[in-house]
Amino acid sequence: MMFIERVKCPTCGNSSKITLLSIPFSNPELLRWLNSYYRNRIPKGSLDGMDYILDQCAACGLIWQRQVGDDDLLNSLYEIWIEPKDSQIYNEGRRSVQQALAYVSEVVTVLSYLAINPKDANFLDFGMGWGHWCQVAKSFGCQVYGADLSESKMAQAHANGIPMIDPFFLDSETYFDLINTEQVFEHLANPHRILTGLVRKLKPNGLLKISVPNGTGMEKRVHRISWDVTPSSRPLLMPVQPLEHINCFHRKSLDIFAASVGLVPAKIPLKYEFRYAANMSSLKNAARGLLGITYKNRLYPTYRFYRRGGVDHPFGHPQRGDG
Ligand SMILES: [Zn+2]
Repeated sequence: MMFIERVKCPTCGNSSKITLLSIPFSNPELLRWLNSYYRNRIPKGSLDGMDYILDQCAACGLIWQRQVGDDDLLNSLYEIWIEPKDSQIYNEGRRSVQQALAYVSEVVTVLSYLAINPKDANFLDFGMGWGHWCQVAKSFGCQVYGADLSESKMAQAHANGIPMIDPFFLDSETYFDLINTEQVFEHLANPHRILTGLVRKLKPNGLLKISVPNGTGMEKRVHRISWDVTPSSRPLLMPVQPLEHINCFHRKSLDIFAASVGLVPAKIPLKYEFRYAANMSSLKNAARGLLGITYKNRLYPTYRFYRRGGVDHPFGHPQRGDG
């Protein structure tokens, strides 16, 4: 067995669904796309008998790929077909002032909202990738832990002084003020199990960030998907990319998913996001930064902070000194 079949909605558990698309992975056009994207690293016949099927949940609206790789296939996918060195070069190439500022803004926003000193903050970056976010949070003095399945990524984090943990290890006494998941939940075969486990490691009123590709309205665009290998066809396909983006969310499906484990959307005052924006290097950067933050938090539907607990203000009073 090289794939598993997800017959029920993997986030809300409902079994009522509509099939939007069904194509065998042996389809020549799909195969050509895969061979182009993975640079011919997929061994011939690896996906035989497997279909690319998009189902949509009648209850929460999540779109999911019904057949997904088992552990062996996913290991091949993330460690061989996507060559770690290529991924590292790609991600190092994307490091920029803008990206670093976005991470800074996020850390400042969270510390302000939780009204805690960095030295008292315990953060986990779950699915940390190459650890860039961890490095930024660490530079504030926060205690930052990373978690990732990839051995090459863990080695890199270790070299950068980021401790690795397995958050699902039952004896772990570490609880977090923030668990960051950036581009993680779209990849998981069993997202509900993972989210349940993570919520158990949150402090009361701790925050959990979920940021995933925006699949709003995807059900209306599915028929336009083309297996063209040109870059222009990629944005349409990205939220439901075969093998990798196996869960496709919009805001409602994300909120229902979070609510199923007792998480509520955190209402983070805009002033925290703008708090240190004036420190940017130029007016142009400042404007771009501000627009970026605003766009991301206010308009981007699948970038969400959720809170564990029943009241919105973590300590029952407005944060001090935020004039
Ligand atoms: Zn559902």
